[in-house]
Amino acid sequence: MDYTIKTLLTREEVEKRIKELAKEIEKDYCGKDLLVIGLLKGSIMFMSDLIKEMDLPVMIDFMSVSSYSGTTSTGVINVLKDTDISVKDKDVLIVEDIIDTGLTLSHVKKLLEDRGAKSLKICTLLDKPSRRTVEMKGDYVGFEIPDEFVVGYGLDYDQHHRNLPYVGIVVKK
Ligand code: 5GP
Ligand code: MG
Ligand code: MG
Repeated sequence: MDYTIKTLLTREEVEKRIKELAKEIEKDYCGKDLLVIGLLKGSIMFMSDLIKEMDLPVMIDFMSVSSYSGTTSTGVINVLKDTDISVKDKDVLIVEDIIDTGLTLSHVKKLLEDRGAKSLKICTLLDKPSRRTVEMKGDYVGFEIPDEFVVGYGLDYDQHHRNLPYVGIVVKK
């Protein structure tokens, strides 16, 4: 490997924060019929930890979308795997690994709104606010991080390292 991985957030820090987020979400959705939608593949570890800590009878589903393409900042996304459960009239929480430019989530949000979700909120493990090209705010944010390329806890570098139980910065040698 021509790079090393420097720890940014330890496993303990991440796990502690996920428990806090889960309790916040649990409080906000008490008595509601919540559908949690994870965006593949980056959200898998975060989502799995998060929903275990919620004392709510949630429904879960997944979506996979391709990176946006096109020359304008609006671009387009392709849905590679859609949800099985309809979002119509449901309280939906989208779970994402990281918000960077905000483009992916702005598209997904619009799509699910157009499909008639009753409410729509976003939960992200990481947020790089300095990189935004469109306005996008997470409703539940684990950690704000600096403009560095990170891996682990579901996030990949060329499809590797998603299984790291901590979040690290990729440092070129
Ligand atoms: P956005 O559409 O907000 O620019 O980007 C979202 C996607 O880009 C994330 O879901 C993630 O897959 C990828 N991404 C953005 N920043 C990073 C990063 O630092 N590390 C990794 N592994 N992926 C990132
Ligand atoms: Mg992602
Ligand atoms: Mg990726």
